[in-house]
Amino acid sequence: MNTQKLPHVVIVGSGFGGMEIARGLANAPVQITLIDRHNYHLFQPLLYQVAIAGLVPSQIAYPLRTIFRKQKNLTFQMGELTSVDLESRYVKLEGSVISYDYLILAVGGHTNFFGMNSVEQNSFQLKDIDSAINTRNHLLKMFEQASREADAEKRRALLTFVVVGGGPTGVETAGALAELISHVMVKDYPQMDLKDAHVLLLEATEHLIASYPDELRKATRDLLLRKNVEILTNTILANYDGQQVTLGDCTQISAHTLIWTAGVKAAEIVNKLGIEQAASGRVRVTPTLQVPQRPEVFVIGDAAYLENGGGQPLPMLSTVAIQQGKITAQNIKRILKGQSPEAFRYKDPGLLATIGRNAAVARIWGISFSGFIAWVIWVFLHIYRLIGFRNRVLVMVNWAWDYIFYESQVRLITKE
Ligand SMILES: Cc1cc2nc3c(=O)[nH]c(=O)nc-3n(C[C@H](O)[C@H](O)[C@H](O)COP(=O)(O)OP(=O)(O)OC[C@H]3O[C@@H](n4cnc5c(N)ncnc54)[C@H](O)[C@@H]3O)c2cc1C
Repeated sequence: MNTQKLPHVVIVGSGFGGMEIARGLANAPVQITLIDRHNYHLFQPLLYQVAIAGLVPSQIAYPLRTIFRKQKNLTFQMGELTSVDLESRYVKLEGSVISYDYLILAVGGHTNFFGMNSVEQNSFQLKDIDSAINTRNHLLKMFEQASREADAEKRRALLTFVVVGGGPTGVETAGALAELISHVMVKDYPQMDLKDAHVLLLEATEHLIASYPDELRKATRDLLLRKNVEILTNTILANYDGQQVTLGDCTQISAHTLIWTAGVKAAEIVNKLGIEQAASGRVRVTPTLQVPQRPEVFVIGDAAYLENGGGQPLPMLSTVAIQQGKITAQNIKRILKGQSPEAFRYKDPGLLATIGRNAAVARIWGISFSGFIAWVIWVFLHIYRLIGFRNRVLVMVNWAWDYIFYESQVRLITKE
């Protein structure tokens, strides 16, 4: 087969969307180049487990060259996309230029601090493996420092953990952190009075997990309170200097840890494209996920802005990225056959968030679940979706161990 003559599809980003397109084009008459700055696919929804020392990175990330070993029409290139020439149809990585017939930008998003530089510099975030490990190291160091701190007020500041953002990631992180303290650290630090340790969850609006139905918001609040998470809704973070949290009403809280989960915006690279952007920097795409006037360029997932039937932007969720990846692969095949691409319609599979061990909230098939049943659904869905049989088994064994012994396995401080 002369691959030179096949249309060249360049996919940038091997997250949920990019992976789905690459797989969807496995048997298509195209040559694919998949580009990512990392050599692995990352299951971001479990990053918080790495941060709270529950899982190790290799359990939620899988090497791309292994995943695509058998896909003969795909080549992987590790590198940072630095620019795109839409006119001449090529992309630039550090050191190489790659031309394309079709380009798919599945570059995802990154943390949005809404211009609060001091918060950006001093807070912790959960966006990639490095940031999750940094968070883990810091959290564990706080317990070490607190264990040798004689001054009660200073000890309390070391053991005050503030999570900002009452969306699913904030709720999951706060719940898991509270359990790390109450079930694991109490055993590791028997001499220390961990009544000083507490987790605060700040949310600017009236509700936690605002997009969920009322009964699940209430269940979430109750579950978190039961785990001793202090919840402050209608509370705006004004500043954080690494030692003091300042709230909108000028209240000060001494805390050495602030984890920011309150905002996401499209990946930096899309700002360089000269294409119209909407809220959070996302690229405005047509209903077929193409860039207006550039039918050979598709943008999908967190980086793309498209509204649902009700005029609301589609959420930045893995389920959206996966479904958009699927239809984009189909649309490229349609275009190659001379057919028109089909419009994207999001099929909402439901909502799911876990609140520590044993508890979650879920809305599936129009029914709301909370507590243990929701947690079992959450465990099975997440493990099912994890890439690679080995990872599924490892994560399952880890969780079963934690579940039975109230343990958390990876309490290693690995970086200064
Ligand atoms: C902590 C956390 C928890 C989450 N929990 C959930 C959840 O429970 N359920 C849910 O549905 N969603 C959740 N999400 C959101 C979900 O992860 C995203 O919506 C999804 O990953 C978006 O998929 P994507 O393909 O658009 O981008 P991503 O999966 O982010 O992939 C983008 C890829 O592009 C690469 N990339 C970016 N820029 C460049 C560049 N310039 N050069 C080269 N490569 C580049 C990145 O390395 C990355 O691999 C969570 C996200 C986070 C951060």
